[in-house]
Amino acid sequence: MNKIILKPEREKSLLRKHPWIFTGAIKSVDGKPSNGETVELFSYDGKFLARGAYSMQSQIACRVWSFDEREEINTDFFLKRLQTAIQLREGLNEKINSNAYRLVNAESDGLPGVVIDKYDEFLVCQFLTSGAEFWKKEIVEQVSKLVSCKGIYERSDVDVRSKEGLEISSGVLFGEEPPEFIQIEESGLKFFVDIKKGHKTGFYLDQRANRNFLSTFVKGKTVLNCFSYTGGFSVHALKGGATDVTNVDSSMNALEYAEQNVLLNAFSSEQVDNVCGDVFQFLRQCRDSRKQFDVIILDPPKFVESKMNLDKGARGYKDINLLAFKILKPNGILFTFSCSGLMPTDLFQKIVADAALDAQRDAQFLFRLTQSCDHPISTSFPEGDYLKGFVCRIKN
Ligand code: SAH
Repeated sequence: MNKIILKPEREKSLLRKHPWIFTGAIKSVDGKPSNGETVELFSYDGKFLARGAYSMQSQIACRVWSFDEREEINTDFFLKRLQTAIQLREGLNEKINSNAYRLVNAESDGLPGVVIDKYDEFLVCQFLTSGAEFWKKEIVEQVSKLVSCKGIYERSDVDVRSKEGLEISSGVLFGEEPPEFIQIEESGLKFFVDIKKGHKTGFYLDQRANRNFLSTFVKGKTVLNCFSYTGGFSVHALKGGATDVTNVDSSMNALEYAEQNVLLNAFSSEQVDNVCGDVFQFLRQCRDSRKQFDVIILDPPKFVESKMNLDKGARGYKDINLLAFKILKPNGILFTFSCSGLMPTDLFQKIVADAALDAQRDAQFLFRLTQSCDHPISTSFPEGDYLKGFVCRIKN
């Protein structure tokens, strides 16, 4: 067995069950593990710590599969981990209230690099790390036995794979090819999802609970949905009795889906404006023309891609929040999010607070929001806590 010996004192994070070992913590690698192969981790003084997957190219040189010395990493190991993750979701069924949800949430389900989402009768997987890639065949085989589905589709077409020295990869892994779009149901509403080409694995499943929550704030209100994608928040707003909704997104394709999703739920497309363009620009135009809304949603893409661009990302968040505060009507409500894992919650809260101050609006934080419960956060993996949001209210 290949072995990794850590430098003195560098086992502390592993003793706290954090699943990553960075290259800087390693004293030596005994043997010649290939990319993704299982290695045993030992402290400097020779104590067994964990078994994990070796990543030859990444700064994160090893991701732990198991801290239990008796547990071998084999097909049976993956079967058990998958089973546990799936059972957890079964227990959350009523809270999830959808036929589209995350079955396996990587590190937080004890399977680093493995993401599996269920969209009705199809599963969509991402294998983000060398270890996940190494065991791909076994994982797909086991999950196909545990969950009855028509097909399993891979969407490992993400940049993070390059840090692991892996090519992007997508296509059918099991069963049938999925159709061009799949219809899913979420809290009684229907959505078309393109699992082959849509963002992430097709839909922002992590925002499900927040979309539902939004619907309780909008009765008789005008709603501006910034970064609307396929209209998730908008359809929920219509369900909640919004009088009219404006979607803004730079992707025409996403807006076409948004329009279809409105019709699919038998709402009138006359209640919905679709604006294809840049949110920053749109918000400035509203400010300059004094156009206002009762409720605004800001759910931008990840503005902070690396620690180095935290400041730049922070400025982006500040800009859109400031503009949103300026164009909210008195008593208006702002749903504001950051999905940047590298943006700490308290910093995000400060940015939103500063934006209100600079906009000269007297605002309050009403609720803190996070990702839906099918995207759990392991207590030993704070990095899993990436989505944060606030519901703010303007007082004047
Ligand atoms: N709220 C959505 C998910 C938003 S994802 C949901 O619940 O489904 C972010 C969206 O922002 C994507 O659709 C992307 O096309 C869009 N986008 C990214 N940068 C943009 C910009 N500068 N202006 C407008 N839209 C942008």
